[in-house]
Amino acid sequence: MKEFELIQSIFKNASMANIEGRNDILLGIGDDCAQVKVPADQTLVFSMDTLVEGRHFPYDADPAAIGYRAVATCVSDLAAMGAKPAFFTLGLTLPNSDAQWLAAFAQGMAELAEPIGLILVGGDTTKGPLAITLQVHGYIEASLCRVRSGALLGDDIYVTGCLGDASAAVPIVTGERIVQHDIYEYFYNRYWRPTPRLIGGMALKRVASSMMDISDGLAQDVQHILLGSGVGAVIDGRLVPISDTLREWQPESALSLALTGGDDYELCFTAPNSMREDILLITQTLHLPCTRIGHVVESGFTIEGYSGHLNGWQHF
Ligand code: ADP
Ligand code: MG
Repeated sequence: MKEFELIQSIFKNASMANIEGRNDILLGIGDDCAQVKVPADQTLVFSMDTLVEGRHFPYDADPAAIGYRAVATCVSDLAAMGAKPAFFTLGLTLPNSDAQWLAAFAQGMAELAEPIGLILVGGDTTKGPLAITLQVHGYIEASLCRVRSGALLGDDIYVTGCLGDASAAVPIVTGERIVQHDIYEYFYNRYWRPTPRLIGGMALKRVASSMMDISDGLAQDVQHILLGSGVGAVIDGRLVPISDTLREWQPESALSLALTGGDDYELCFTAPNSMREDILLITQTLHLPCTRIGHVVESGFTIEGYSGHLNGWQHF
């Protein structure tokens, strides 16, 4: 147990656990519970994700990279609701108490958590195969929560960023494929350092009719909106945003990766046609790449210009 007390002290003393200057967090790490006062005009939204070594990220990876990505992937769910990040708890299962590994892991988490105001308020630590569970919490005005059931007939469908890079990166980050240095660097970052679209989500919630983040591939995830809203969609495969690097590196499979690959953590949202100018203004002001890729129809799901299969991403 002494070991795990040492581990806890690493998190307790981390600057991402410092609650100074936060009126909403009354009690952080160190007591039996954390205590939080949700701001009066807000509601609390929260989401949990578990990452298991060998399944959700490769064995023997850089602990700082694991920490950063764990926060990024989990916080992406807050972005998808349009919520403001507030605090998180951390369930850690560790094979041993390697203080150096932990310090690097905590530093990786803090690199993203701190600047977005996501405070570590507690957690639990146990011994076992490496697994990381994060529960992230955010605040949002009750009426502005962007759920998956709001898409309406005729709405436009948009995605942010570029799709496919992260799944193209998997064989590279696992070491299965050896590539030249600049390609390696690009895809390493695309896999390990996804950009949760927090500011984008907070701005777009006012114009979107439904919104979600893409974690299992666009083709699969957009269907959650369609099912939730009881509508169909037509997507133009030729409009799906793909990075130049992926297009050049894998011209044959780029579109298939963009449609069915996972781990992108971009936003997919629907909005009425009347919002086109507002969306352009918001995304240009935020320098948020955003592409209109299709529209909502009564039923069915078609991707024009794509003849491949549509299985979603299976984790390695
Ligand atoms: P208890 O036995 O009361 O559950 P613990 O010994 O598990 O307490 O934890 C002591 C304190 O350390 C608690 O405030 C808990 O939230 C915090 N803590 C434990 N593990 C972690 C962790 N992995 N990350 C952040 N805080 C942790
Ligand atoms: Mg405990």
